[in-house]
Amino acid sequence: MKIHEYQAAELFRRYGVRVPEGKDAATAQEAGQAARALGAGPYVIKVQVHSGGRGKAGGVKFAETAEEAAQKAGEILGMTLVTKQTGPQGRVVRRVLVSRAMKIAREYYVSLTVDGARERVVMIASPAGGMEIEETAKEAPEKIHTMEIDPYLGLTVYQAREMGKKLGFSQDEIKQFVPLCQGLYRLFVEKDCSLVEVNPLAVDAEGNLVAADAKVNLDDNALFRHPDIAAMRDVNEEEPRETEASKYDLNYIGLDGNIGCMVNGAGLAMATMDIIQSCGGSPANFLDVGGSATAEKVAGAFSILLSDAKVEGIFINIFGGIMRCDIIAEGVVEAARKLEVKVPLVVRLEGTNAEAGKKILSESGLNITAAEDMADGARKACRLVKEARA
Ligand code: GDP
Ligand code: MN
Repeated sequence: MKIHEYQAAELFRRYGVRVPEGKDAATAQEAGQAARALGAGPYVIKVQVHSGGRGKAGGVKFAETAEEAAQKAGEILGMTLVTKQTGPQGRVVRRVLVSRAMKIAREYYVSLTVDGARERVVMIASPAGGMEIEETAKEAPEKIHTMEIDPYLGLTVYQAREMGKKLGFSQDEIKQFVPLCQGLYRLFVEKDCSLVEVNPLAVDAEGNLVAADAKVNLDDNALFRHPDIAAMRDVNEEEPRETEASKYDLNYIGLDGNIGCMVNGAGLAMATMDIIQSCGGSPANFLDVGGSATAEKVAGAFSILLSDAKVEGIFINIFGGIMRCDIIAEGVVEAARKLEVKVPLVVRLEGTNAEAGKKILSESGLNITAAEDMADGARKACRLVKEARA
């Protein structure tokens, strides 16, 4: 799960990491009030969307007075911001963060993430922070330093000092950098993060180290341990179908194709997508209903496929083990009672209670094309979609 900068900044505060004073606002009026509450300007107004690269896309504005802050916020609220990370459709700006603007002397980059290959949390840092970090990574990778963190020792003072030296910090700056790194690391571990990133970590005119931007991504599988963080979720930033799928605890990811897939098991789901592709079709989604789905969950999954305007055909590919084929059939019929099935529906049921499942489907009155096996099902789905188009 991703959260907004203003929420990540609040977490930074809780872990003793210095961030600029500020408040989020959803209207121009609120932005003006937030600025007045901060005292004298200048202020920085930043769009709050789940994307980086806001600065380059015009999502970071400066204002001298509270009136100007309100006006600038009014200009960006409601607009669609297109950044390098959003794709061409962009993101609608529903909220801004109004902070006291700092005089930034130097910009650094610091992050913590999990390196799967090393099986460690790593700290990545660079003296060339700011909006050009991607270019630095490509053109001057020697300016980016990586350090593995031992899970038993945690991020040690020694390591943080070493990193501080690599960044060229003065003694006084290192004194601030060490607890800052430790605060970020504690946050990373305690809240089950997948990424904590500060870019830029700014040194201001008085020599203070301040996190001028805050980014925190969380491990969805650990969210149940952190209700305070789960409450930070912003469904406006998510794909609506993926939000709906998460209500049913389904593994669903929307894709660009036109054949909706409902499969049990992640491996079979991926194989199904591959075989559709090799038959000349294109999957509209990855969907694993899991091993112990109820009819209600299956109905939810099928409704999500039916509600997708991209979907021109559906392929249900089930290999029943613990998952029973009759449960799948019940769920499909239940969903089809509420939503009309206007697209070709190909079903392959194999394994536990396959015969019972087929019987439920054939008695339902639904127009179903039965498939012998997976390859046959994929071929039929692709052919029917093509025929429906012609
Ligand atoms: P991003 O582009 O989405 O990463 O958004 P950031 O929050 O990092 O802002 C983009 C850039 O704006 C930063 O790299 C800074 O150079 C600049 N910036 C952000 N806040 C301040 C501030 O308070 N004062 C000054 N002078 N610059 C800022
Ligand atoms: Mn940034």
